Amino acid sequence: MPELPEVETTRRGLAPHVVGRRVTRVVLRRPDLRWPIPREVQAVLPGQRIDAIHRRAKYLLAETAAGSALLHLGMSGSLRVLPADAPVRAHDHVDIVLDDGHALRFHDPRRFGCLLWQAPGETHPLLAGLGPEPLSEAFDGDYLFQRSRGRKVPVKSFLMDQSVVVGVGNIYAAEALFLAGIAPLRAAGQVSRGRYAALAQAAQSILAHAIERGGTTLRDFIHPDGAPGYFEQELRVYGRAGQPCPRCGRTLRHASIGQRASVWCGHCQR
Ligand code: ZN
Repeated sequence: MPELPEVETTRRGLAPHVVGRRVTRVVLRRPDLRWPIPREVQAVLPGQRIDAIHRRAKYLLAETAAGSALLHLGMSGSLRVLPADAPVRAHDHVDIVLDDGHALRFHDPRRFGCLLWQAPGETHPLLAGLGPEPLSEAFDGDYLFQRSRGRKVPVKSFLMDQSVVVGVGNIYAAEALFLAGIAPLRAAGQVSRGRYAALAQAAQSILAHAIERGGTTLRDFIHPDGAPGYFEQELRVYGRAGQPCPRCGRTLRHASIGQRASVWCGHCQR
């Protein structure tokens, strides 16, 4: 499943090819992905110029003066820019054709992705209620500390709650907690301000590093659980249950926390 770094890498890869281009037509090879594709995509988008490609959480927004196409890659989706007459493969569901003869083509075998529409000045319901971006200034230790007071939920589940902060998936949460030395099952409300500062910094540095790496290896193998292949070898605890802790050598523990596989060191993480 594409995680935030892969979505951001996709955005950065698409932007130079798409921003400033005008949409000439939209080809829908099926009426729906995860949800029906709203009529505005074909009725309003053609003729509009794409002013920007933004990312919010794991959604991409192709913004025009008349509204924004809202895309999510789901479990298996991908976006490519290619000549509009390039042969269509199975699962190439949508082409947004541009005025330079290229098309933004959406490919999604499992169809958990979506293509929706956000009217100007509105926030789509899927984007309402989302927490801050992890790489924004709004996200830091003080923010996590304040949001967590009185919360009994495990700190790992708290960090993965999209209403607290977006885009910290299972892999990134496990790694950030290890770097910050925080046990994933500890109650969120019992983590100190100083330790939350370390956690926010760890999450930011891991995500920023993954984005940086993704920028040069966009087409690399993606691990089924979302870790880019090039990133996997750098993981310290995720996927390493039963192996020695890279810091102290003791055997890493594992359990399901909030129905997500979790691995940690019982000695280094408290
Ligand atoms: Zn350890």
